[in-house]
Amino acid sequence: MGVQKKTRKFAQMKRAIKAHDERLKKPSTTKKEQPKEDQLTRQITQAPSNMFFAANTALGPPYHVLVDTNFVSHAIRAKQDMLTSMMDLLYAKCIPTFSDCTIAELEKLGDKYRLALRVAKDPRWSRVKCSHKGTYADDCIVDRVTKHRIYIVATNDQDLCRRLRKIPAGVIGLSCALYIQQHLTPSQSLILSAREFPHTTSLNYASPWAGAHYRPVPGSTPQFTREESQAKRTYAHFKNLAAHEQGCGVQSVPGVEYLENPPVEYLAPENIRNAYAHLDGFERLTEGECPPGVKWGVRYQTFVVNPPVYCAYLLRQFVLRGGEVREYTFVDPREAFHLADGVKTVVNCSGMGFGDEKSFIIRGQTCLVRNPCSLTITRQNIDGSWSFCIPRPLDGGTIIGGTKQPHNWDPKPSLETRAQLLANAAKWFPFAEGSKEQFDVIRDILGRRPAREGGMRLEAEKLDRGSGTLVHAYGAGGRGFELSWGVAEDVFGLMKKIGLVREKASL
Ligand SMILES: Cc1cc2nc3c(=O)[nH]c(=O)nc-3n(C[C@H](O)[C@H](O)[C@H](O)COP(=O)(O)OP(=O)(O)OC[C@H]3O[C@@H](n4cnc5c(N)ncnc54)[C@H](O)[C@@H]3O)c2cc1C
Ligand SMILES: [Zn+2]
Repeated sequence: MGVQKKTRKFAQMKRAIKAHDERLKKPSTTKKEQPKEDQLTRQITQAPSNMFFAANTALGPPYHVLVDTNFVSHAIRAKQDMLTSMMDLLYAKCIPTFSDCTIAELEKLGDKYRLALRVAKDPRWSRVKCSHKGTYADDCIVDRVTKHRIYIVATNDQDLCRRLRKIPAGVIGLSCALYIQQHLTPSQSLILSAREFPHTTSLNYASPWAGAHYRPVPGSTPQFTREESQAKRTYAHFKNLAAHEQGCGVQSVPGVEYLENPPVEYLAPENIRNAYAHLDGFERLTEGECPPGVKWGVRYQTFVVNPPVYCAYLLRQFVLRGGEVREYTFVDPREAFHLADGVKTVVNCSGMGFGDEKSFIIRGQTCLVRNPCSLTITRQNIDGSWSFCIPRPLDGGTIIGGTKQPHNWDPKPSLETRAQLLANAAKWFPFAEGSKEQFDVIRDILGRRPAREGGMRLEAEKLDRGSGTLVHAYGAGGRGFELSWGVAEDVFGLMKKIGLVREKASL
């Protein structure tokens, strides 16, 4: 961009110079140094996949955020605290980082940028030394993120964004992709294709909006029995992840449940054994151990998930193992057979399916607050409504929930609901000292759980004339995260059973 501008100015100048001007005597040397415009544009290098946030394995909390001059002054003008806004946006701990030349650029900008300079020099931020000539910070930032892919760039500068390239699936698709990929022979390959990927947000993309915690749901229908098995396998997987994968966004925490008016499924000891017995440290609470009014209480060791961080982690693992990713919106899942040559299997993890009459949404409104909490608490109130708090790992705030409203398509969060959720939770939330027993709200969260009558559709559909097989895996409702790894195992098991796994698979 900068070079293009210089070239044009030079051309205008040249036209203005008189024929006998001294400078015209040695045009050849300067001309050689100036590449032609079309040569410049052809030299655009392809951005490597790990320049993308989700595909960069070196990026994990705490995030090192390289800040440019523009961003500091915009943050001051918008009266935004830089660190808080970054953490609210990235859902985890951040370290604002300034290069020597960004500071030098602010110093050169003079008195008007005095405040920005003071903010940039805050001793809490990290500083990186520059050894290059000059103080053109944009070049320095581009150079740093291209060479050392451990940074995220905070900027409001559109040109700089263009130079860095734009940064572009749900938890079920990602888990299935990774699981299948781990079990394929090297000659087989996978393409992960979706309309939305981690770090994009859309009402109809459920995963980023989840709490998310692992909380067993007792019952005795075939759906409950299947989900119990999937949940148990996911619990074992989460245990392994939390112990060995720092930064994946899954953490082990204590969990408690207090029910004031326990539904009938909670009263059958067999149901409770089936749903809860696999949990580490599981204990029924005595009346004396429960708060007043609570008729049923349990305690166990469980897992909380920071959904955007965990989904990005899954995607990174997939890409690192050589998985191919494509952004694509399908009108019909059969389109996916044409994404590449020889696609024989398509796994449909679209959340809602494509026009399945059994699919429906369950609207969920929660509130993300800054108040920290060290355990997940679920409370059923006397009127049958539920309140819960879920701390999101890696300093991602705490979710205060939540509503479950089947078939409700209202896209806007309700302030009334927020007030109700916070008022209910304020009665039992373990506020930290100094919080004045008040919630510090980051934002309302509104999502649509992709539910289905009778539970998830997990079946294979052979298409006409042997043109391929569609494996359906959608409709996880409000339990997508806690069922995810079990679902992935079941999808692979199904593919193996009907002999699909030896064929080239696409997702
Ligand atoms: C408020 C709230 C709280 C929740 N709390 C929890 C919790 O505590 N624990 C828990 O386990 N779960 C929780 N959930 C549920 C969880 O979010 C979902 O079950 C889960 O995200 C479903 O994942 P999915 O991959 O099936 O669907 P999605 O996340 O919706 O992903 C679907 C994918 O398919 C793609 N897609 C869809 N249609 C098309 C198309 N036509 N073309 C191309 N791509 C397409 C989308 O782009 C997306 O990538 C909660 C949900 C909400 C809303
Ligand atoms: Zn520099």
